[in-house]
Amino acid sequence: MELLDESIVPEDAREIKADARAFAEEYIEPNAEEYFRSGDYPFDILEAGQVAGLVAQDLGPEVGGRGLNIRQMLAIAEEFYRADAGIALTLQLASFGGEIVESYGSEVQKEEYLRPVAECEAITGLAVSEPQTGSDLAGMTTSAEKDGDEWVINGEKYWIGNAVEADWLTVYAKTGDSDDRYSNYSMFIVPTDTDGYDAEHIPEKMGFRASKQGHIVFDDCRVPEENLVGTEGTGFYMLAEFFNHGRVIVGGHALGLAAAAIEETWEFVHDRSAFGRSVNDFQAVQHDLSDMLIEFERARALNWRAAEKVQNGENPGYWAALAKTTSTEAAVECAETGMQLHGGRSVLTDRKIARIYRDVRIPVIYEGANGIQRNLIYRQRP
Ligand SMILES: Cc1cc2nc3c(=O)[nH]c(=O)nc-3n(C[C@H](O)[C@H](O)[C@H](O)COP(=O)(O)OP(=O)(O)OC[C@H]3O[C@@H](n4cnc5c(N)ncnc54)[C@H](O)[C@@H]3O)c2cc1C
Repeated sequence: MELLDESIVPEDAREIKADARAFAEEYIEPNAEEYFRSGDYPFDILEAGQVAGLVAQDLGPEVGGRGLNIRQMLAIAEEFYRADAGIALTLQLASFGGEIVESYGSEVQKEEYLRPVAECEAITGLAVSEPQTGSDLAGMTTSAEKDGDEWVINGEKYWIGNAVEADWLTVYAKTGDSDDRYSNYSMFIVPTDTDGYDAEHIPEKMGFRASKQGHIVFDDCRVPEENLVGTEGTGFYMLAEFFNHGRVIVGGHALGLAAAAIEETWEFVHDRSAFGRSVNDFQAVQHDLSDMLIEFERARALNWRAAEKVQNGENPGYWAALAKTTSTEAAVECAETGMQLHGGRSVLTDRKIARIYRDVRIPVIYEGANGIQRNLIYRQRP
């Protein structure tokens, strides 16, 4: 069985989908287990992805990128995550947060910081979450205070993709103390070699092991005033818009994982015998496989619909949250059933299903835990 057929994918995303699959089969899949085991950063695969024009190409032609749209990024996500989530996240994180600078940054910022990312000479990341909270975006405490012609950043960030490896990050920091808690935040470009910036890797994770997150400490970290992105006090709203786009893509992360769980399980039950029959011959097993397909196909239909809604600006927060929640939970369900159908072999650590089972626990949390998505769905309902 082979999932992720292209019939649901709009015309303009089919070619890149085929390129992403070919790349994933050549570079990601054969190396996935080794990187999962070592937990190393897959620099060589990142470089191959850059050469193939499949990394950081959401950035537009005006800064040297391909300007891939949400449908094309979703198509890549499905294919990369089907092969391996940890490596896929590393490839997709190379430009993470760059879209904020692209939408709101100055021409000078775009030229100096975005162009090297789009031209694959630099990588970046987005620093929002903190040790005390990741969910409450208006409750973060890392601050930026104006001192002459500089901003002075103090505080901590946690879980930040590429915190150690990136050349610069887009950093979300508190710049005000008004009663309107949503107007107190701003975005800054912070080169990671700035004095007062210190990052180290967080402890080893159980899943997504080929992607690296870090703990950052800002200790009187000074950046020039021109590193403020857009207008002071609008960071929360920039982030909300960015996440509408990002959550549709996270849905794609989960769809790739769900597809992998189903394909892997399908093969296993067809190769395995019990009671003198192929395990696949038992109707109960067929029902389990059918349930996996039901979860997967309905999530995928919703996710692709949400991509169009977000692209067209039609109640995007609602649709992005629906897609993220449905697809990530479908992946958890598919992995759970897949484990059961693998019997004892499910818990062997070199089995792909065991890797998927650990990986699916992560997209239900990042880019806003699903509890937060349910708050958004209720609040932004039509
Ligand atoms: C692998 C990985 C990569 C990540 N990459 C990045 C990154 O690059 N940049 C970045 O900034 N962050 C990143 N994150 C952080 C991620 O976005 C946060 O973990 C996530 O937003 C949840 O925050 P938290 O872990 O602090 O959980 P908390 O905010 O402490 O919440 C704990 C749980 O409480 C529940 N909860 C909390 N508040 C509410 C509420 N109001 N309503 C309902 N339920 C609620 C939710 O179930 C939630 O899961 C990453 C995380 C992981 C695991």
